[in-house]
Amino acid sequence: LNAFDPWPPVPDGSAFGLDNLPFGVFSHPAVADGAPRIGVAVGDHVLDAAPVLDDPVFAAPTLDAFLARGRALWTETRARLTELLTDAHYQGSVSHHLVARAEVALHLPFTVGDYVDFYCSLDHASNVGRIFRPDAEPLLPNWRHLPVGYHGRSGTVVVSGTPVVRPCGQRRPPGAEAPTFGPSMRLDIEAEVGFVVGVGSPLGEPVPAGSFADHVFGVVLVNDWSARDIQAWEYQPLGPFLGKSFATSISPWVVPLEALAAARVDGPAQDPAPLDYLRRAEPWALDLSIEVALNGAVVSRPPFATMYWTPDQMLAHLTVNGASTRPGDLYASGTVSGPERGQRGSLIELTWNGAEPLTLPDGSTRAFLEDGDTVTISATAPSATGGLLSLGEVTGTIHPARPT
Ligand code: MN
Repeated sequence: LNAFDPWPPVPDGSAFGLDNLPFGVFSHPAVADGAPRIGVAVGDHVLDAAPVLDDPVFAAPTLDAFLARGRALWTETRARLTELLTDAHYQGSVSHHLVARAEVALHLPFTVGDYVDFYCSLDHASNVGRIFRPDAEPLLPNWRHLPVGYHGRSGTVVVSGTPVVRPCGQRRPPGAEAPTFGPSMRLDIEAEVGFVVGVGSPLGEPVPAGSFADHVFGVVLVNDWSARDIQAWEYQPLGPFLGKSFATSISPWVVPLEALAAARVDGPAQDPAPLDYLRRAEPWALDLSIEVALNGAVVSRPPFATMYWTPDQMLAHLTVNGASTRPGDLYASGTVSGPERGQRGSLIELTWNGAEPLTLPDGSTRAFLEDGDTVTISATAPSATGGLLSLGEVTGTIHPARPT
């Protein structure tokens, strides 16, 4: 009666096994007349969640209402999905609600509320400091005392696959006195990990680091596209603006924190010890292995486990002044770079500000991105069953600047 044998419908070695079960928003012509709704990735398929969980919250075109339900109901839902996908009793009814992952369109999975981008990699911050202030201490005095961040533009957060149009803006070429206007000539990537807030927090009430998992539902991959020439001219004294806000891409599958239990590790030792409100209560560093590919060739493998500031500390810091949070808020880690050359999460580091261009397999070289280039960031994590689970990928292709 159905095409799924054996049950559960997970091929051997799949990185979307029952220990992953990420949530996203999909559409398929044969499901709900093609309307976007919530799905769960399992094996090579997507499970249409609304009918099998018998809950209209999953017939919505975003995860927003589900995110707001909170930890107890997230756990209950995950347990129910596991039961439905393992107990042969449900095979007949559940298998009717699986569609091939290759046939679905994936959409932005939640309405992005506030968006914050941090700067939590010691190696990234040190590299950028060395590039721009070669004669000074690479880290600025505040860096080891707080996770540095800025508020970004939530309205231009887009789902993986959305084309990225090369931005135009003001940039001042080296040695020039006045700025000129035109397409960015130094378009870059930042490979990052993003954290999706489910349960918000009221105005005036900081979220302690120990309450991280009561608020954050899960994780996505982020590409914080960056126009370095626009950024370099505009950023003083208030920080990133138009060099960042033209597009930020996220992966379509939100991997629940529960799926990452086996990836949790102690964060690196912090010296000096952070202030009390930033003290870690539990290990929330995550052993994610990231891969950055440019036109199909892997150019970097940044490790996430060594990030100096961990996501529980990021949330504690971004709310310590009483700022409220809402379901769908997104905060990203900042560029993930490790200590080795092949672990740098941006082109500005990989090419040392363009001085050491990359050579691609086709023989071409890159200092920064060219029109037509495709960047794909993917990641895996150790799974509860001893294998690897996938966080999926975030990809984007550079389209030429619009004529002005
Ligand atoms: Mn960034």
